[in-house]
Amino acid sequence: KGSGEELLKVDSILMQFGGLKALNNVDLSVKRGTIHGLIGPNGSGKSTMMNVLTGIYIPTAGNVLYAGESVVGKTSSDIAISGIARTFQNVQLFGEMTAIQNILVGLHHTFKSNIVDVALNLVRYRKEDQEAHARAMALLKFVGLEDLANEEARNLPYGKQRLLEIARALALDPQLLLLDEPAAGLTAPDIKELLRIIRKIRDSGITFILIEHHMDVVMSVCDTVSVLDFGQKIAEGKPAEVQADEKVIKAYLGT
Ligand code: ADP
Ligand code: MG
Repeated sequence: KGSGEELLKVDSILMQFGGLKALNNVDLSVKRGTIHGLIGPNGSGKSTMMNVLTGIYIPTAGNVLYAGESVVGKTSSDIAISGIARTFQNVQLFGEMTAIQNILVGLHHTFKSNIVDVALNLVRYRKEDQEAHARAMALLKFVGLEDLANEEARNLPYGKQRLLEIARALALDPQLLLLDEPAAGLTAPDIKELLRIIRKIRDSGITFILIEHHMDVVMSVCDTVSVLDFGQKIAEGKPAEVQADEKVIKAYLGT
């Protein structure tokens, strides 16, 4: 599938909360196989954009085309199944469930396990169950957590919880992965490991939108960066260009 082709097109999105325009006429174009950074000061609309892309918010106006099809008005779960997965700014794992159970939750839509199916066809169910387990273990291994499969998520170090959340998102077999500040609160070695895993996922062909405050992370992995300020896109380009842009510098100094 040709990289360079547009996977996601955000067209003039307006997201209004009462009198506040959290997103004001924002366009984005994300090319397949790239890592697209989304940066901007606190409150500039980054997480709101993620929530629009994943069906948590329905935009006041504008359109979002994913692989050529509008996702506006679709449910979050339909959008996830269509191939857009995400992590959250604040880790959202099931703390009392083990690492592998957290991944199995992410895989559940691949089961056709309505109760009648299960009753009529236990053998097939068990087979799918085993396959899901093997897939979940493979994902844990991919992010280096295979030895922690049976630890409760809440007992994992914070950096590992972030990686577990990414593994859970990958369980959906996404084409587009949205990460909302994945490096927030991580130590320098954790950030290094996160970057290694992001690159490995990118090399497998998955496209990213990466919201991140750590400029070194943005600079080292993003192909293109868009900058939001007060809900508007104020700059866009290669990381080095954007970093040198006066409007961007001013926006960050202003907060
Ligand atoms: P960022 O992720 O860039 O820090 P957000 O997208 O979280 O910013 O927020 C952008 C603006 O929209 C903020 O002013 C925030 O308070 C507001 N906002 C976000 N979600 C809602 C909501 N559900 N209701 C009202 N205001 C919201
Ligand atoms: Mg945010």
